[in-house]
Amino acid sequence: MADILEKDIKFLDGVGPKRAELLNRELSLYTFEDLLYYFPFKHVDRTKFHTIREITPDMPYIQLSGEITAVEMAGGGNKKRLIAYITDGTGVMEMLWFRGLRWIGERVKPGKKFVVYGKPTSFGGKTNLVHPELEEPDKQEPVIRSTMQSFYSTTEKLKNSFVTTRVIHKLINTLFQNVYGKLPETLPGYLVKEFNLMPLNDALLNIHFPQSQEKLKRATFRLKFEELFYVQLNILKQKANRNAIVEGLIFSEVGDLMNDFYREHLPFELTGAQKRVLREIRQDMGSGRQMNRLLQGDVGSGKTLVAIMSMLIALDNGFQACLMAPTEILAGQHYSTLKKFLGEMPVKIDLLTGSTRNIHRKKIHEKLLSGELQILIGTHALIEDTVKYRELGLVVIDEQHRFGVAQRAKMWLKNVKPPHVLVMTATPIPRTLAMTVYGDLEVSVIDELPPGRKPVKTAHYFDTKRERMFGFLREQIKKGQQVYIVYPLIKESEKMDYKDLEDGYESIVRAFPPPEYVVTIVHGQMKTEEKEEGMRQFVTGRAHIMVATTVIEVGVDVPNASVMVIESAERFGLSQLHQLRGRVGRGADQSFCILMSSYKLSKEAIQRLKTLVSTNDGFEIAEADLKLRGPGDIEGTMQSGFPFDLKISHIGKDAKILEYARSIVMRILDDDPLLEKQENNILVRRLRHLKRKEPDWSKIS
Ligand code: ADP
Ligand code: MG
Repeated sequence: MADILEKDIKFLDGVGPKRAELLNRELSLYTFEDLLYYFPFKHVDRTKFHTIREITPDMPYIQLSGEITAVEMAGGGNKKRLIAYITDGTGVMEMLWFRGLRWIGERVKPGKKFVVYGKPTSFGGKTNLVHPELEEPDKQEPVIRSTMQSFYSTTEKLKNSFVTTRVIHKLINTLFQNVYGKLPETLPGYLVKEFNLMPLNDALLNIHFPQSQEKLKRATFRLKFEELFYVQLNILKQKANRNAIVEGLIFSEVGDLMNDFYREHLPFELTGAQKRVLREIRQDMGSGRQMNRLLQGDVGSGKTLVAIMSMLIALDNGFQACLMAPTEILAGQHYSTLKKFLGEMPVKIDLLTGSTRNIHRKKIHEKLLSGELQILIGTHALIEDTVKYRELGLVVIDEQHRFGVAQRAKMWLKNVKPPHVLVMTATPIPRTLAMTVYGDLEVSVIDELPPGRKPVKTAHYFDTKRERMFGFLREQIKKGQQVYIVYPLIKESEKMDYKDLEDGYESIVRAFPPPEYVVTIVHGQMKTEEKEEGMRQFVTGRAHIMVATTVIEVGVDVPNASVMVIESAERFGLSQLHQLRGRVGRGADQSFCILMSSYKLSKEAIQRLKTLVSTNDGFEIAEADLKLRGPGDIEGTMQSGFPFDLKISHIGKDAKILEYARSIVMRILDDDPLLEKQENNILVRRLRHLKRKEPDWSKIS
């Protein structure tokens, strides 16, 4: 049976090479199995028929059955339409078509009977159905009996080739004639039994051809559970393997450096959240297992300090530590922060980036090997093979999502026993998403800002208020503040966007002319040196205004910048807006975020802007974002790539099932970490199969 599922879709009755190619290209359906797991996006109850007399325009989709009494053409030009009248004995209903008139005209003839499905509306003062679906009762396709009709997503190209939702349904019907009842179970029997899950054959049958509401519900649960179960098994299995194989360095000491720093050099009291997270990290590093921990905390929550103190623990235990950041600017900032905090302590720190001179680079290499250099800060340059340590104990990675998983893995090899790894991100990731994307990591959250921080004040202005906004900026600049002005950049219309950016820059320079004002510009198409120079102007305080694209999104720390203006804010995603806003509010002064937009806003755009104005809580925003959109769009996962397509579940909406599945996976792995028991054979096989189908799966963390 397994062989049948591997068959090329072109061999299915009703497909053939041409349709197969379309299905490959448009829906990524290649095999019988792909089609079997191509789930409908909705089900509609088709057992109920309405009488024409009871239908009103405010009703949702309705179904009726009747006979055509007359057909006519009306209007002209844009308004040209075909009207067909249908009766079921209780009244007459108008059906309207504005497109495809000739094709419809050939199908719809007086005397013909149809089952009609559509959304009632009112047009010209009458209740009618616009572009309803028609089905000829005697020509009904021989589908497996079901009480609800399944609807499948198609594309414009598929529809143009007449591969409609109905055709897909029919193909699945054909497929089912061959496979129903013969599909091998994909979950272990003990799970199916213990949780009273619907068996696979029935679940697949009912998702495509629901036998009842109740059965559809059980089928949906079973399939969602299974999907999330395997996602979790994949990640947690890697963690279990790691724990079984990898021996962790044991940092048992909290020694002189840490104590000295804490007592003598720490300029402020740690927040409760920082203390808690440090405790978690210390526990990890003393446990005998390798630490793999994700530290989440909104911008400005004090992650860097946690990193510094963790590195001191490594040093106290006789090891070296490194801190890797995604850009030279960020690495440079970390370097000066560490110098500032640790300057008076006997700790040797250096900075290694792409632009480190060769002579200096050689020195760094030597001192790392001899152990004289204790903390190395840098960019991707740290990964290079030439960078070797005497004994590396801790790797800290800032803004994890800017690095690939492979890069993290490479850092493991920098020591005989793999070093502990702490990855930090300022992108708040909803819990469920973190469990999935970073599911093999322990998670720590700093959910508290250092005291005295003033929340950023956020306002939304329409473009017509531009002059007022400029006036406000002048006031702030007069007070010695600096301003970011950010323009959106969306791939598809890059040319247009750069024009917007350039035009914007020019108009800002006109409004803020030299020599009184200095305006700098930074965007992704500039050469690295130009870009860094533009940033430098702003970081050093020479420029009053920095006009930029989202290149500034991550990590840039200019405490003196207190105003963030976001142009065309309606074009940004929620998390991205929040991330940008996080660039201000880092100093002692009141900060502002101004969202500029046009008057023409979609409902979702209004929702996004409202959310942003109303809250500063990154997690709340991330949760809202996850619900508004799919996980694939959430920043922070986009770069690392949400690692798989979920076919039926939704990371945001199915959080309960996800947690449930995760807890069961944990229980299984606790009992059988390497899945060696007979009863778990099926899990190993299925996981291998899924990984083969979704090569991205092996890329997770
Ligand atoms: P993050 O990396 O999380 O964005 P940082 O570590 O850069 O945040 O901290 C932001 C600012 O807050 C820095 O200037 C840092 O010195 C300061 N800071 C960190 N922890 C505290 C604290 N407990 N109390 C007061 N200020 C703090
Ligand atoms: Mg930071």
